[in-house]
Amino acid sequence: MLAEGTLGGRVALVTGGGTGLGRAMAIELGRLGARVAVAGRRSEPLEEVARELGEGLAVPCDVRDPEAVAAAFEAAERELGPVTTLVNNAAGNFLVRAEDLSPNGWRAVLGIVLDGTFFCSRELGRRAIERGGGGQIVNVVATYAWTGGPGTVHSAAAKAGVVNLTRTLAVEWAPHGIRVNAIAPGPIDTPQTRERLWPTEEIRAAVLAKVPLRRFGREDEVANACAFLVSDYAGYVTGEVLTLDGGAWLEKGMFGLGPAPGS
Ligand code: NAP
Repeated sequence: MLAEGTLGGRVALVTGGGTGLGRAMAIELGRLGARVAVAGRRSEPLEEVARELGEGLAVPCDVRDPEAVAAAFEAAERELGPVTTLVNNAAGNFLVRAEDLSPNGWRAVLGIVLDGTFFCSRELGRRAIERGGGGQIVNVVATYAWTGGPGTVHSAAAKAGVVNLTRTLAVEWAPHGIRVNAIAPGPIDTPQTRERLWPTEEIRAAVLAKVPLRRFGREDEVANACAFLVSDYAGYVTGEVLTLDGGAWLEKGMFGLGPAPGS
């Protein structure tokens, strides 16, 4: 855990910051001294997080709309100062077979994840470059960006685009001192994922059977990884994807060894 004050003087904008992992990252950046604006469509959860943050700000916006994104940055900068740090966390997802996915469903997920990440990044980039540079972006992806994600073709394709965006912008904006990285969480236990993704003991056990560390990840672990990447401790890190999944995506062994002795 980084020390309080590590992010003093920073202004951060976290998309999807009213719930789940976005909320956890916003609170942690705030604890470390950043002034934090949280963006999302619904005002209520954003206001709640802003209250919890103390010096926080709710900036309701739909990240699919570039003008709304510009207005959210404008509001954040007016109240809190120049935004130096952006966490592109907002996402939409649902389980569907590819042959049943409607064009609207496809566009909705691509719009939030890929367009939204680009519009927000572009906004930070333009403003930071105009001010003489400096900034950090963390994009939230998932390991199916490179493994493929049967049942979530829209999200998997969009996250793959975001990984590419991460690497492309890391190089393009390096001369401006803007670092761009990503985190790829695995199964993280939040009230939302518990209800939506692993609602029964049986499903939880099936998920954990695929995780070498044999446990779910925690919100605070994701928040710590995000805080590290935006902090100066990661000052020489750009274009990277930090995976937090208990080894899950590497678990591809053909020959089961059975349970480890003593496990
Ligand atoms: P979540 O609670 O559903 O968070 C999604 C957030 O995005 C919500 O706050 C939502 O707020 C916001 N959002 C959705 N559409 C938006 C739009 N058009 N404009 C602005 N904001 C929008 O999900 P989560 O589990 O915390 O996931 C957060 C991130 O982690 C996502 O990028 C997800 O893909 C990634 N991830 C999560 C896990 C996991 O196990 N939890 C694993 C891998 C990756 P509104 O509805 O109010 O707009």
